[in-house]
Amino acid sequence: MNKIFSILLFLFPFSGFSQTIKPKFEGQATSSTEKVDTRNHAIIPQWRGQQTLGNITFDNGFDGARLNGITQNNDTLYTAIIAAENYPINPSPWYAFKVTSKTPKTIWIHLTYLNAKHRYFPKISRDGKTWPSVDSTDCILVKDPQAKNQNFQDNALSESAYVRVRVDHKITWIAAQELITSSIVSDWSKGILRNKFVSSEIIGKSPQNRSFQCLRIGEDKSDSKIMMVIGRLHPPEVTGQFALQAFVESLCMDSETAKKFRKEYTVYVVPMMNPDGVDNGHWRHNTGGIDLNRDWSDFNQPETQIVRDFLRKKLNGTKSKLYFGIDFHSTWDDIFYTNITEKPTNMDGLIKRWFETLEQTIPDYKVNARGSKPASGVISKAFFNKEFNSEALVYEVGDNTSRDFTILKSKTAAEKLMLLSLEYLK
Ligand SMILES: [Zn+2]
Repeated sequence: MNKIFSILLFLFPFSGFSQTIKPKFEGQATSSTEKVDTRNHAIIPQWRGQQTLGNITFDNGFDGARLNGITQNNDTLYTAIIAAENYPINPSPWYAFKVTSKTPKTIWIHLTYLNAKHRYFPKISRDGKTWPSVDSTDCILVKDPQAKNQNFQDNALSESAYVRVRVDHKITWIAAQELITSSIVSDWSKGILRNKFVSSEIIGKSPQNRSFQCLRIGEDKSDSKIMMVIGRLHPPEVTGQFALQAFVESLCMDSETAKKFRKEYTVYVVPMMNPDGVDNGHWRHNTGGIDLNRDWSDFNQPETQIVRDFLRKKLNGTKSKLYFGIDFHSTWDDIFYTNITEKPTNMDGLIKRWFETLEQTIPDYKVNARGSKPASGVISKAFFNKEFNSEALVYEVGDNTSRDFTILKSKTAAEKLMLLSLEYLK
C-alpha cells in the first residue's frame, strides 16, 4: 500500500454496512417533486472508448457505461472521475466500466465524483451477467468527518471510495449496480411474450430512436378494465427494474387467480421508460437532459408524451377505465409514494387494502408509505390519478434491499393485487 493511501486511511474513518437499528426512510421532501422547467437542457456527452495506462486498459465503450476520466497515481492506484450528464441533478452517481490487464495484478481504483458523493456500493462481474458486491474488505469508503450523521440522503454518503480488484486479460466489470441495459430488458420481454395471452406493440421511439415496447397482458379483448405498469424512468434504479419484472412475471402465472384476473383486466407494461438514459449511462435524465419524473404535467419530453398519448387513445372517449397505475423506482430504502385523493377513484381504497394485505402476508413486514396530493403533482402517479381517476403509486425499492426480498415482495404484491381487483367485481 502506498504512502499517500496509508495517510488517507489514517485521516478518514471508514464505514462498513453494519447498523444495529435500521432507521426508517421517511421519503423525499415534497419540495423535491414540485413543478420545474422540463424543457430541454443540454447534456454533456460522455467520451467513449478505451484508455490504456501501462498494462491496464479501462473501457467505457458499451451500453450503460459511465467513466468520465481515469488517471494513474502510482503502480497500483488509479483514480476514476465520474460525472453526470448535466447539473443540477439528483445524487445518483451511476458508474460502470470494464478493466483488463496484460498481466494478472491487484489494483486499487479510487472512485471520485464531480459534484456528488459516492452512493452505490460497487458490484463486480466477470461474465457481465452476475454482479456480486465487492467484498467489504475490498472497498474503503472515505467519509467526511465533518458531515452530519444522517442516515439517509446526501449527508450520509461517503466522499469517495477505494475499490480493490484483481484484474487480468479477461474483462472485469465494475458497476454501481447490476448492469441492466435496454437490450437486456428487451430480451426479458421476449420471455414474457412466450405466454399466449401476452402481445406487444411499439408505441413510440425515443429521441435516439430506441423502441418503446409496450406489453399487453390479458384475455379481455374489450380492454374495458385497464392497469398500467411503467418503470426505469431513472437509469441507475435497477432494483426497481427487478421489482417490475417480478411483478409482471407474477401477473403471467398459471394460478387460478392469475387466470381469472387476465380474463377481466388488461395490463399494459412499459418496462423501459428511459432507454436513451440507461444506455448512455446517465445518472437520472433522458437525452433532453430532463428528469422524466417531473414531466407528467407539462409533457415536454417525448418519453412521457408517448405514454400519455397511448393512455389517452385507450381511455378518452371509450368505455375503458384506468383502475391502477404503478411506476417502479429505486431510492435509499423501500417506500411507496401514494396519492391523497379528494374524490373516490375508479377502484377506491384499493391501495390501502393492498398494503394491509401485504403486511398480513409477508412475515415481519411493515409498509413504509407516504402520501401527497396529486393536484399540482408532476410525477406519474399524479398524472394517472388526475387525468384518469386511477389508483396510482410509485413503488420504490431500496438500492441495497436484498434482491431476494425485492422479488418476494413484488411477487406477493402482484398476487394480492390480482385477488383484490377480482373482489371489486363482486
Ligand atoms: Zn426514480
